[in-house]
Amino acid sequence: MTLVPVSLGTRSYDIVIEDGLLDRADTHLAPYVRNGRLVVVTDENVAAAQLSRLDASLAASGIGITPIVLAPGESTKSWDGLERLMNRLLALGVERKDAIIALGGGVIGDLVGFAAAILKRGCRFIQIPTTLLSQVDSSVGGKTAINTSAGKNLVGAFHQPVLVLIDPTSLDTLPAREVRAGYAEVVKYGLIDDADFFAWCEANGTALLSGDPAARAYAIEKSVRAKAAIVAEDEEEKTGRRALLNLGHTFGHALEAETGYSDRLLHGEAVAAGMALAFRFSAAQGLCSADDAARVGAHLGAAGLPASLRQAGVSADGAALVAHMLHDKKMEGGTLPFLLARGIGQTYLDKTVDLNSVATFLDQEA
Ligand code: NAD
Ligand code: ZN
Repeated sequence: MTLVPVSLGTRSYDIVIEDGLLDRADTHLAPYVRNGRLVVVTDENVAAAQLSRLDASLAASGIGITPIVLAPGESTKSWDGLERLMNRLLALGVERKDAIIALGGGVIGDLVGFAAAILKRGCRFIQIPTTLLSQVDSSVGGKTAINTSAGKNLVGAFHQPVLVLIDPTSLDTLPAREVRAGYAEVVKYGLIDDADFFAWCEANGTALLSGDPAARAYAIEKSVRAKAAIVAEDEEEKTGRRALLNLGHTFGHALEAETGYSDRLLHGEAVAAGMALAFRFSAAQGLCSADDAARVGAHLGAAGLPASLRQAGVSADGAALVAHMLHDKKMEGGTLPFLLARGIGQTYLDKTVDLNSVATFLDQEA
């Protein structure tokens, strides 16, 4: 069992990582049981694939669960999805001291986290992430949100979970494409500030993607520690440190917007292409070597992830993609801070990027 503490000033919470944790979750969850029950929010796919493991482990300790099973997919993370969930939680009489369990990927984690943030002005919640993306990224750090017609994650709150339980074996039932998409966020930590970890990814990525338990456990722990450290330094993205986690996301969000946030391009796939673009743009600006940019693209491509506009299935021109970027949450007084790189493991926030040069670069990439 690996314990990673997340320290936030006067508060802290634990991330527990262990193969088979879902089958032994009772010991960790017992302190949160109220009236003999726990409310577990999940989606239909996760309910079919993983809920029985949690249920059996709790039942063995005499703890019942009240499941709330939502439709899978990004559309559940909406005003409508939030309203339905809030009404169910209120009807169940959930109180502020209750801890609502989010069992699922980033969609469930973000939605349940936001519901917990505003239900009775804030109640507790526990993350049990079941996708690689949610295990290495979204379950840690307290960003919660829903999507609106104006865009993704535009309505939300910072609300930290009280506990995160990560069972890497829950990934055994996750479709391979979803595993690959989550892997993009793993590679991201190496590219941000850990060149050795990127080299580890180059050597071990294939094993990780095929479910090798040792590689998987190492990558999850390494990612979670990296994210916990960054979040501890800059919980609410005020100093710029946490912004490093957005590497590849400005380009990526433009690709997601262009493809309509659909199954055509998963978030992690967009981030993969976005990171490859960020490195090539950095190289084109003379900031980073062309070799490093090529290495990034080659590794993402070898992992089965898109590393170019064409591979991402996007044919829009630079002006259209930059127009999407102008809707970015990170826009500050008409400029958009970009995550650029001086090399692998040397990402930095650049507030002086000229969007015309981004458009020209994207036209050359097309
Ligand atoms: P997801 O939650 O939609 O899960 C992907 C698919 O896998 C779904 O169909 C789900 O039902 C299924 N699934 C989940 N676990 C499974 C399992 N163990 N076995 C079988 N099927 C399983 O997608 P995601 O990639 O986990 O999360 C994406 C969301 O996360 C986006 O909405 C994104 O905005 C958000 N996100 C949030 C943060 C944050 O910091 N809060 C960070 C990154 C991404
Ligand atoms: Zn992401």
